[in-house]
Amino acid sequence: MGFRLANIAGRAALVLGEHWYDLEQISGFAPWSDPLHALGDTERLHELSAEIPDIEPSGDLATAEVLAPVPAPRSCFAVGLNYPSHASEAAMAPPDVPLIFAKFTSCIAGPKADVELRSTSADHEAELVVVIGPGGRDISVEDAWGHVAGLTVGQDISDRTLQFASSPPHFDLGKSRDGYGPIGPVLVSPDLFEDPEDLAITCEVNGVQRQQGRTSEMIFDVAHLVAYISSVSTLAPGDLIFTGTPDGVGLFEGRFLQPGDLVSTTISGIGTMENHCR
Ligand code: ZN
Repeated sequence: MGFRLANIAGRAALVLGEHWYDLEQISGFAPWSDPLHALGDTERLHELSAEIPDIEPSGDLATAEVLAPVPAPRSCFAVGLNYPSHASEAAMAPPDVPLIFAKFTSCIAGPKADVELRSTSADHEAELVVVIGPGGRDISVEDAWGHVAGLTVGQDISDRTLQFASSPPHFDLGKSRDGYGPIGPVLVSPDLFEDPEDLAITCEVNGVQRQQGRTSEMIFDVAHLVAYISSVSTLAPGDLIFTGTPDGVGLFEGRFLQPGDLVSTTISGIGTMENHCR
């Protein structure tokens, strides 16, 4: 049975309907309060998820403090120009190999966290985020989904001035300001989707739709990204891959995020993040 994993006030929890279940309590295993420990054993997470309908919930989601499902991954990779529509608006040729950069893990924030704007050129990039389960090196395309614990929503918020301050651009720094990597609200195991490779993704700013796409449009799909990255860098439980953004970012219209803006990022079957800018 599939599972939904969340971070409730700093503790890993499974989610069912409107309720959450503290993972340490239901597993009887203290280290599982930390999602990095739990995500290495997705088989056990599936088993526990099947048991929770018979268990008293730990609390209601509506009143819970929901934080980043993986607040401190060991590595956080990201992919540039992975949608034809975004490569086109950037007037760049679609890449022949995945264009990988890092979002330094200090940028990870929660699904409701405020985004502290540090310049006048912050931009939104709605992205599907892959969360690694069992880790590994040289993972094949065929085996890749078996190494994916789940999928979540992410914003690859980008400081365009900083990104293009150097030439070639330094993607890493420009996309790693503190709080510029919100993820959440939950991590959903792949088997809970009808087709985990074809999900609707949207970004609204103040209720106005700015980005709309489907993850099936990706140039390099999830399996190829996992295989490619793991051919270079050993993947560990909880590692994140931001898989790129469809078109509609603000950069090409010179329209950037302002204090007071509300960025709503949604992926079908996962949920919505709402991040206020200040
Ligand atoms: Zn991006």
